[in-house]
Amino acid sequence: MEIIDAHVHSLACGIMCGGQVDVRYKTVKEGLKSRGIDKAVFVPINDISWQPVDEMNDYMISIIKNDEDIVGFIDIDISKMHYAGGIKNIETKIVELYERGLKGIKIHLQNLGVNGDDWRLLPIYRLAGELNIPVMIHCYPGSSPGLIENSHPKYIEKIVRVFHKTSFIIAHFGGVPYFNLMPWLNYDNVYFETSGVLPIFKKNIGIEKVKLIFEEIGYDKIFFGSDFPTEDIDIQIDIMREVVNKENLKYVFSENIKKFGRQFNWWKK
Ligand SMILES: [Zn+2]
Repeated sequence: MEIIDAHVHSLACGIMCGGQVDVRYKTVKEGLKSRGIDKAVFVPINDISWQPVDEMNDYMISIIKNDEDIVGFIDIDISKMHYAGGIKNIETKIVELYERGLKGIKIHLQNLGVNGDDWRLLPIYRLAGELNIPVMIHCYPGSSPGLIENSHPKYIEKIVRVFHKTSFIIAHFGGVPYFNLMPWLNYDNVYFETSGVLPIFKKNIGIEKVKLIFEEIGYDKIFFGSDFPTEDIDIQIDIMREVVNKENLKYVFSENIKKFGRQFNWWKK
């Protein structure tokens, strides 16, 4: 069965997680290939303490130019948006990156250290809708430099309702603390991906409860994502097979994201 991974990391600096994980393109691509995965969405991490954003975007563009199976998302730096012309500058940069081939924007609330409804993010949500590219929002109460609160769905709820012309992908399904709240974010313009969380969901929430929430959300709104190579991808594939029944599995593993991506010219074939 075809699998498309909605959440993969390959960084310009080549390392992640304090330097413990090798995220060079070649390693990541070979790792996916060995699981029979060709197509994937590569997302940045919005962490300027780890690497400069311009370098990351140039790196992402070099990947997508040579590998049409990869969809690349835009990395953002909001630290200078309060400068004179700061909002215009980031907007210009996003348009330029879109024109160079990146087809989505990643918002990592913990790494940016802001809540989902922060004023600096508002023009970005609006512009994504105008350019017709989706926004992936990190929704998982982990990882510094931000705090638990940053990913709280109460902020994201406002955003997905106000910016109803923008498509959103909720990354990590809210993690364990917010998993039960996910149905309240389930608007027409919102989709969900499972990266990194299925093992802890199985352990702390249980397969049956996960199934109930997935059913409530709808199997047409869920994408498989792994956070590879920072998380064990094989166990996540196995747990997905436990949670999702046979007839819906192909939608969650590939059909939903293919259909979703068609709106944004993600994959030609
Ligand atoms: Zn990630």
